[in-house]
Amino acid sequence: MKMYAVRSFTIFLICIVHAGLAQFSFNPSRLSNDLKILSSDSLEGRRVGSTGNAKARQFITERLKQLNIRPLFAKEYVQSFSITQSFGQAQSGNGNNVLAVIEGTKKETIVVSAHHDHLGVLGNALYNGADDNASGTAALLAIAEYFQKNKPEHRIILAFFDAEEMGLRGSAHFVNNIDLQKEKIVLNVNLDMVSRSVKNELYACGTAHYPQLKKPLESFKLPDNIALRLGHDQPGSGRDDWTSQSDHMNFHKKGVPFIYFGVEDHEDYHRPTDDFEKVNQDFYHRSVEVIVRAIKALDKATSITPNRS
Ligand SMILES: [Zn+2]
Repeated sequence: MKMYAVRSFTIFLICIVHAGLAQFSFNPSRLSNDLKILSSDSLEGRRVGSTGNAKARQFITERLKQLNIRPLFAKEYVQSFSITQSFGQAQSGNGNNVLAVIEGTKKETIVVSAHHDHLGVLGNALYNGADDNASGTAALLAIAEYFQKNKPEHRIILAFFDAEEMGLRGSAHFVNNIDLQKEKIVLNVNLDMVSRSVKNELYACGTAHYPQLKKPLESFKLPDNIALRLGHDQPGSGRDDWTSQSDHMNFHKKGVPFIYFGVEDHEDYHRPTDDFEKVNQDFYHRSVEVIVRAIKALDKATSITPNRS
């Protein structure tokens, strides 16, 4: 090959790589790697109170420190709370939320959340919970990095909740121990299971309750090969209604509007086979990109107003 041909070919390759990366607001390989670490066997399924759960918490806090994102309360990222009983079996111990904050130009605050706990070891089976919810946790780290570098208008609280699998305990403790009015919390964006969909669909649930959030969610361009559907929030539709299915429910109960991002249940949902290898990385990257763009649109929207009873 002549020199100029080599050079044009190189430029051509660089352009392809750039076109591929340009559609993401974050580093997609870091996102996948974070997912891999959080759902690895060494974290033992991240059950509340376990060593693996503590390792997940440490991984999150180390990253927040590296990103220079400060804790929400004083110098401590971790908000501990006691759990006296869990589903079916008596158990006591501590749950631990990880809370951080990125200041905005406004005082009004959006809480972006994901639960970092999962089921742990049940019987002889290890439940790694890659989609549920290592995917939302790693996504929240990517979102943290994005908004630390591209400052939002709203103040953003990053909430990595614990004990969701025991009945939304971490988020309950959070909403019951913060002055929602004083902190001007106007929205919760919750992420729980965002990494796989055979139909290439991500759902945003909540606009049936809070129609003012519909417009911002329809206002931005989507990446290729993914659909953002609004729904799974019609009262009376049984299991098809996801309003009470994850941590956003505790905000909703207090009258704080929410948008919950998630995928439809799959064959590995709450099974020991919910592993990293089952995740479609390509879909996962696109899904997180949709969520970043959605938060940007919600941040800019003027329709985010408190709807408290
Ligand atoms: Zn979950």
